[in-house]
Amino acid sequence: MQDDIDRVIISEAALAARVARLAQEIAVHYQNNAEPMVIVTILSGALVFVADLIRRLPIRMRLGLIGVSSYPGSTRESRGARIKAHLDPDVALRGQHVLIVDDILDSGNTLRLVQQMISAGQPKSLRTAVLLRKPNKAPADVSVDYVGFDIADEFVVGYGLDYDGQYRNLPHIAVLKPEHYASGSADPRTEAVSSS
Ligand code: 5GP
Ligand code: MG
Repeated sequence: MQDDIDRVIISEAALAARVARLAQEIAVHYQNNAEPMVIVTILSGALVFVADLIRRLPIRMRLGLIGVSSYPGSTRESRGARIKAHLDPDVALRGQHVLIVDDILDSGNTLRLVQQMISAGQPKSLRTAVLLRKPNKAPADVSVDYVGFDIADEFVVGYGLDYDGQYRNLPHIAVLKPEHYASGSADPRTEAVSSS
């Protein structure tokens, strides 16, 4: 697996340091609320990030999970994203302070859909944290409150992010050698349906 990597973009140490700082910022914002905060994580890409983040958050919280499929090119559905696993109805949103956690803000289709869905549940407040953001493409109508790293517009894997279901277990964020992306393209988003 290590042989498939072209270069490491963000090291394990840099990830740990930044996640700790993000957790501090988040804790300061939420620590005085009477109610536990609710963290809604978008599977599967954000699972490593959220696991590290919540263990650095010394405040009361509940965790909810949702699954979203994204459609690169967004031609298959009008929004380019679809909920494939709904939030457990036991995770109450109404009147709660909700933080959405996702792996990466790219086209914004995923977060736009999830933010609309969570807003419909009438939380008291709604914020969003992403580990990575591709600034060239970040759309104006999808706002995020916490960003780990701004990265260039290239397809990355590791620390939860996959290519074809693999590489989520890499401890760093990396770019694969071009020959490991199908069709030799350096950007697999030009291929068919992917799973977040
Ligand atoms: P969106 O384009 O909707 O903002 O991002 C949708 C999803 O596509 C992200 O949550 C992530 O799962 C996936 N994605 C976007 N850019 C990348 C990338 O560079 N690498 C990987 N592995 N997934 C990405
Ligand atoms: Mg995702």
